[in-house]
Amino acid sequence: MALIRCPSCNKRTSDKAKQCSHCDYVLAGRSKEELSREKERAQQRKKEKLLSQSMLALLIAIAAFAYIFLEQPHEDSWYAKISYSLLFLGLLWFLVNRVRLLMNKRER
Ligand SMILES: [Zn+2]
Repeated sequence: MALIRCPSCNKRTSDKAKQCSHCDYVLAGRSKEELSREKERAQQRKKEKLLSQSMLALLIAIAAFAYIFLEQPHEDSWYAKISYSLLFLGLLWFLVNRVRLLMNKRER
């Protein structure tokens, strides 16, 4: 028994299994072409998910920045703490997603 990578979820599964034990993708009876097409589709799905996540993260950061810029909340207030945290987290999440996108591209 050998371990192969499932083309759909990219996790390791047995080459003897009829379907992936993680995502139930049917492996038995698939041609090489079908498998590589499914791999491409899976990478495209992942890319789209990462893109929409990074857009959401950027939106959060922009909203927090706009709030700080326009309302200028007092530094000790809860509003300031929350908006600065959101700004930081939004930017961090955005950066993490960009790095994951780059790594996703390199896997190809
Ligand atoms: Zn799978």
